[in-house]
Amino acid sequence: MGACFGLGKPRGYNLPWDGTEPARGFELVVRTFMVEAAVTFLASCNPGRPTRDSRRSSRGIVRLIALIQRFAHNIKPANRANRKSGFLQTTELNQSISTLVQLAQSEAFPNDVAALSSGGQVKPYSPLKNLHPVLKDGILRVGGRLTNAPIPEDRKHPMILPVRHRLTDSILLHYHLKHLHAGPQLLVACVREKFWPLRIRNLARSVVHSCVNCFRCKPTVLEQLMGDLPPERVTPTLPFLNTGVDLCGPFQYRKVRKSLSTKCYIAIFVCLATKAIHVEMVYDLSTAAFIAALHRFIARRGKPNTIHCDNAQNFKGAARELAELAMQFRSQQHQAAVVNNCANDQ
Ligand SMILES: [Zn+2]
Repeated sequence: MGACFGLGKPRGYNLPWDGTEPARGFELVVRTFMVEAAVTFLASCNPGRPTRDSRRSSRGIVRLIALIQRFAHNIKPANRANRKSGFLQTTELNQSISTLVQLAQSEAFPNDVAALSSGGQVKPYSPLKNLHPVLKDGILRVGGRLTNAPIPEDRKHPMILPVRHRLTDSILLHYHLKHLHAGPQLLVACVREKFWPLRIRNLARSVVHSCVNCFRCKPTVLEQLMGDLPPERVTPTLPFLNTGVDLCGPFQYRKVRKSLSTKCYIAIFVCLATKAIHVEMVYDLSTAAFIAALHRFIARRGKPNTIHCDNAQNFKGAARELAELAMQFRSQQHQAAVVNNCANDQ
């Protein structure tokens, strides 16, 4: 079949049926009719438009082929009792997609399809060589090792689509619109649930780049000029003389193996001059727990001159308690008590 329904212009077809085999001839006529319809539809949807509108997505051509297949089913005398009518069913649409993919593959990879149909392997120079393709129901699918995985068949063995083919473009555009103008990465992930277009990343970028809506909605990021760095950041000092601290978490930990997991937090002390980092585990967000972590930090790294924090509640509580302790040390009554105690210890 010399149908070039993806890239070239539609051309006239000589029906490949001489009337000798009625059943086979009917299938060939239907197939040729479908190719004609696909060529005409896709060609009419691309009248040199610079934009990609929804008319070019694959939904229209899939429904058109499904209707043709329904007509071919209903016109057979054997199917007179179970003619299809009404809304198009999911099975019919899936069959239509399979037919379109099969047509595209037979056009783009004729040698590979022929080699696999005859029980052979694809040629070493084939672009599909790395995909280890398999032929299932006449469709080239990606091979792989997921045969036993409990996931849908299309995901295990996605249908291979040729690059620079109008059907591939239409399918990508359909998924781009279906997922509310998905970006390149999301588009790749969505399409690969069912299809495996070659060089899909470039195709996805191209589809998103040429979408007018995406271009119009692309926000311009404002960049603010940052202020001058504070003196602690630009003055060389001993490590952790000026320190910043913050908590992150919660994390789960176990005190001993097989015990129940408990929540904990991590206090990160950062030296403002050298960017050195000290990490301490904090058992909860209480003031006492943070003061204990601060004591461990000071015991290891020395007492800092200043500590900067983000004014979280536990930091405020710790600051208040330390301030009360300092006030207590400075009070006359406390100093007298200490002196008295030291005198009595002689
Ligand atoms: Zn878009």
